[in-house]
Amino acid sequence: MTSLADEARLVLDNFADRTTGLFHPNLRLGVAGLSRAGKTVFITALVHNLLHGGRLSLFEAQASGRIMRSYLEEQPDDAVPRFQYEEHIRTILEDRAWPKSTRAISELRLTIEYESASGWSRMFSGGRLSLDIVDYPGEWLLDLPLLDKDFARFSAEALERARLPSRQAMAGKFLALVDGLDLGQPADEPTAQSLSTAFAEYLKACRDDSTALSTLPPGRFLMPGDLEGSPALTFAPLPVEPGRTYPKGSLAALLARRYEAYKTVVVKPFFREHFARLDRQILLVDVMQAINAGPEAVRDLETALADILGCFRPGRNSWLGSFLTRRIDRILVAATKADHLHRDSHRPLEAIVRRLLDDAIARAKFSGAETDVLALAAVRATREATVTDGDDRLPVIVGTPAAGETIGRDTFDGETETAVFPGDLPSDPARLFLPNAGKPADGIRFVRFRPPRLERTAEGLTLSLPHIRLDRALQFLLGDRLA
Ligand code: GDP
Repeated sequence: MTSLADEARLVLDNFADRTTGLFHPNLRLGVAGLSRAGKTVFITALVHNLLHGGRLSLFEAQASGRIMRSYLEEQPDDAVPRFQYEEHIRTILEDRAWPKSTRAISELRLTIEYESASGWSRMFSGGRLSLDIVDYPGEWLLDLPLLDKDFARFSAEALERARLPSRQAMAGKFLALVDGLDLGQPADEPTAQSLSTAFAEYLKACRDDSTALSTLPPGRFLMPGDLEGSPALTFAPLPVEPGRTYPKGSLAALLARRYEAYKTVVVKPFFREHFARLDRQILLVDVMQAINAGPEAVRDLETALADILGCFRPGRNSWLGSFLTRRIDRILVAATKADHLHRDSHRPLEAIVRRLLDDAIARAKFSGAETDVLALAAVRATREATVTDGDDRLPVIVGTPAAGETIGRDTFDGETETAVFPGDLPSDPARLFLPNAGKPADGIRFVRFRPPRLERTAEGLTLSLPHIRLDRALQFLLGDRLA
């Protein structure tokens, strides 16, 4: 039951949308996460389940049969690429392969017609909600702090990070290039390009599975979108002296100018034109990748979460705070790919994310929006089983490992179903890593599985994509708007 205050807010929301000329209310849902966190799979599964009446028992509007119809409509923004839902779902269902991941911003409008439980809503919205899903790389959010930093400060921080022992191997080539430079030398394009390429390669190496670091600005060096190769992305940090002005035409002056251009023509437009218009946000996090890579990756993920949360509640006097009028009121932080673990480890996984988030919230001095945490699998590629070994009963997951995946000495062909013991996550996040060791405490094993084969009912109907807690995510993100 919604309260009177809720009713009034809904009506006001609806009026607000009417004044923008839209006939019915819309909700802009941001879907972000660092690369390969699971954004593309999440959106595809969400849309498929809503279009095909999937099993969403914790999504009240659907479970109670109040959703009459869901359909895709033309998106409101002509200049934003459309999320390629049809291509992605075909890849999952027909090829049993994972779709191409997010490389840039995209958008999709899904309209839901529902029978409102409340007379007020019915009167003002006609029982229709347009969900505008905005998919964008989480890396881009990590650029916000750059707006407060000049080139000298950005450079000093970036070079200090590159010289950390854990990063030196990956940054070696870039650092060697920087060390051999005369900053006052006349600028030339090949030098700028080789510096920027070496810097980008170093950042990308830090994202590898084995390192899995998260805090790697500038975000477009990892996810350039359609700006790859443009001058605003052809720069790199240099050991410039703070406060010193380098001669016009010098390498240092050129790269400093391009860094400023990056902020003006790349970072600011994204926040102004896209981020500032979001109503709600889901942030997907691949915690298992970080856990597998070790304690430093987990710490770095927490830093990234704090930086990302900082975007949602910027100070009033900051550049973003000065024009952010639509405040995001709900943020869901979801640990993805929970189907890689047995159900017994889902709560511990949530506990780990909650702990990371609490630390990030404290660090970002974040307050305001309602936040929640859950472990989900947008597409459930495994089922659970128990294997008995003498008196031992091992909880396992069963799925088809992708071709080339290995467990011990076995290499899989992509066709054979296998039972895997994924290991347990400790219920206390503090016990995640053994003292003084980089390895997960209980030897957690994550195998990439192919998407599931869809089951058919006796009547020959194909069931919708299986998931874990996608319905709870939908209830948190949309439930009140379909009341
Ligand atoms: P994006 O970069 O955030 O768009 O990430 P994707 O959605 O493309 O996901 C990256 C990879 O993670 C996929 O190719 C899958 O291998 C895996 N993945 C994502 N979501 C799931 C899921 O729900 N279950 C399983 N088993 N794997 C997933």
